[in-house]
Amino acid sequence: MAFDYDLFVIGGGSGGVRAARVAAAGGAKVALAEDNRMGGTCVIRGCVPKKIMVFASSYREGLEDARSYGWDVKDGPFDWPAFSGRLKTELDRLEGVYRDLLKGSNVEIFDLRARLTDPHTIELSDGTQKTAKHILVATGGHPVRPDMKGAELGIVSDDIFNLKELPKKLLIVGGGYIACEFACIMQGLGVEVTQFYRGAQILRGFDDEARGLIAEMMNERGIKLHLGTNIVDMAPAGEDHTASWSGTGTDAAMGAPAAEVAVRAPAAGTGGPVWVKATNGSEQVFDQVLFATGRSPNTRDMGLEEIGVEVGRRGEIVVDEYSQTAVPSVYAIGDVTGRVQLTPVAIREGMAFVETVFNGNPTPIDHDLIPSAVFTQPELGTVGMSEEEARDQEPVEIYCTSFRPMQSAFAGRPDRVLMKLVVSQATRKVLGCHIVAPGAGEMIQLAGIAVKMGATKEDFDRTVAVHPTMSEELVTMKTPMRVA
Ligand code: NDP
Repeated sequence: MAFDYDLFVIGGGSGGVRAARVAAAGGAKVALAEDNRMGGTCVIRGCVPKKIMVFASSYREGLEDARSYGWDVKDGPFDWPAFSGRLKTELDRLEGVYRDLLKGSNVEIFDLRARLTDPHTIELSDGTQKTAKHILVATGGHPVRPDMKGAELGIVSDDIFNLKELPKKLLIVGGGYIACEFACIMQGLGVEVTQFYRGAQILRGFDDEARGLIAEMMNERGIKLHLGTNIVDMAPAGEDHTASWSGTGTDAAMGAPAAEVAVRAPAAGTGGPVWVKATNGSEQVFDQVLFATGRSPNTRDMGLEEIGVEVGRRGEIVVDEYSQTAVPSVYAIGDVTGRVQLTPVAIREGMAFVETVFNGNPTPIDHDLIPSAVFTQPELGTVGMSEEEARDQEPVEIYCTSFRPMQSAFAGRPDRVLMKLVVSQATRKVLGCHIVAPGAGEMIQLAGIAVKMGATKEDFDRTVAVHPTMSEELVTMKTPMRVA
């Protein structure tokens, strides 16, 4: 049977674009459909704009430190409209780059929504149908609000980049990557940030000591982090319940009086002043509430289950190690598969898919020892097992040091950093490396190579320190702090 295309990709994010380009470069006839902006979550409403906001938010502290270093610089207000205008221009540029890369690889682009009607047929939202030998679903995910009354009053991470003005008081709900990163960003930009996390410590799943230090540093910077806390009720500010607001909260800075915020109450779903009652009994009014309570795969109304593609309980497409679904002609990569929600992983899955399907070289995905960074301030860079995971598996030695880094210590800041290695007693291999420090994301990329290669503690020890740096501690820790 003759198909319109060798490959039809649904979704123009990092994974889909890479797979489309590489397959097309190898001679395949490829089309790609995207109903939103080209570039996907990472480029348009995720990693890239977030990292630019991390940079923006770091200058306030940078200015303070500069004075300690002898510079005569004055503080000034942060100009959100000016910044977000520049950010939009940069994202437009990057979207153009993605589009040009596809065009340059002869990938046909459809700026339309696509759904599957049979294992080889795609129906586009203009009603046309296309056929393809292989279909790759790379539709990513979307942020989800918790299932609670009033949740539509809050915003999600997608909305942050389109705010007309910065809130004065922001409540962030959640304790994962997005919650913690935006808590630090917004605090750095001068916003008064409160964060509610329902569990005992933020960043569940990461090394306990690393999480503890980040939580402390966030508190130190002025973020009001409330653990074991969640919202029990929320409503547009200014409604009747705010009459009971005065004097019932636990927080001294409780926000504007009800009469003042009432005039600013927004339409539901747009974000805006919200009255919030918490499980700790406090009642406060926030200018915005940001729900960073997880993400769900974009699998709704795509015709997947109708044609036999298995969709899991969390809405994820179930795939095997080659990213193949239960329908042999349909593959899926990236966040939509609910495996590891990281851009570089989606890109690798896309490359492995092309290698498997178009180059006759079946390539399973290697999800082991993926380095990653949480762009809090300070950052967390991590690869491999946490101490808690490792000690459940085998006897380990823990090498760990925490100290005040030279740069901020000179400026009189109380910041501390953490360098930690989790080492197998039996094989001497470094099973995990955890860094909490400015620039930890950059450091862990390199430490990740060593850990991925199976480096032992003695390999780290044989490496000469680069002095004076923070990361030199990774190769100079001689005595285990403990065995576990
Ligand atoms: P996460 O799954 O990391 O965190 C979700 C948070 O919301 C958790 O703290 C969770 O609590 C909490 N939560 C979930 N449901 C509720 C609820 N009903 N009420 C209150 N709290 C709730 O999701 P994120 O949205 O932060 O990030 C999604 C993914 O995106 C990450 O897992 C990561 O893979 C990726 N990402 C990566 C980044 C990076 O590489 N730097 C940056 C941003 C995102 P609990 O722990 O109790 O479940």
